[in-house]
Amino acid sequence: MPELPDLEAIRTFFNARIVDIPIKSAQVRIPIVVRASGEEFFQTLAGNAFELLYRRGKFLVFPLASGHALVVNLMLSGRFRYVTPNERMAAKTCYVITLEDGHEVRYIDDRLMGKTYLVRHDEMQQVPQWAELGPDILDPELTREAFLQRIRRYTGQIKNVLLNQSFIAGIGNAYADEVLFAASIHPYRKRTKITPEELSRLYDAIHEVMAWASAIVAERLENELLPRDEIRYFLRVHQRGGQPCPNCGSPITQIGANQRITNFCRHCQR
Ligand SMILES: [Zn+2]
Repeated sequence: MPELPDLEAIRTFFNARIVDIPIKSAQVRIPIVVRASGEEFFQTLAGNAFELLYRRGKFLVFPLASGHALVVNLMLSGRFRYVTPNERMAAKTCYVITLEDGHEVRYIDDRLMGKTYLVRHDEMQQVPQWAELGPDILDPELTREAFLQRIRRYTGQIKNVLLNQSFIAGIGNAYADEVLFAASIHPYRKRTKITPEELSRLYDAIHEVMAWASAIVAERLENELLPRDEIRYFLRVHQRGGQPCPNCGSPITQIGANQRITNFCRHCQR
């Protein structure tokens, strides 16, 4: 599942390539992921142009010169391709946006669980879950003080607190494990049992982990705009159950299954 470093890399990639290029046409091929009719999608996008993309939590926003925006949640398996028309069309290509410069932006989703909304930019609140999102973890206004103040309202296990998108937006299951490892905090500890010093360390760990991961993902991102699972080879504990901890060498613990795996080091994370 794409997380913040992946979305940041996609955002940067597109901002260098598709902004201000007139859109020639737009076609919905598999309607289920698009929350607009094919006609509306075409009418709104054709002749329009993208402005600078931004991200909020797990949403990638493609603003349009007309005042509309495409708001994309990739969910488990959504991905983009940026190709020329002669590239073979993947089976689960849900929509294609053709630019005047000859490139196509294609959205592919093998499990068809992603969602793309077409809304007016001043009506983002219509996008489900948008209004409930807390501040993005990379929002400059989320200072250390603001973070420490805000986290007081949340009393549960610290990993669940990090995953709660109304607390802060942008941390998913994989990076929650990485951030807690970097901060040496056990994922099942209650927030109420964690000292202010540790919470301050957690704030730093969030920024450090996102920065190094984003840099690595951005380097590996090519025209296949999806961070597949193997792109995560650099993670230190997530999906590393049984392997030696990079700090102390003791085996990494794994609890849970599928999308809800939690990995941590019992020795390093207290
Ligand atoms: Zn360890």
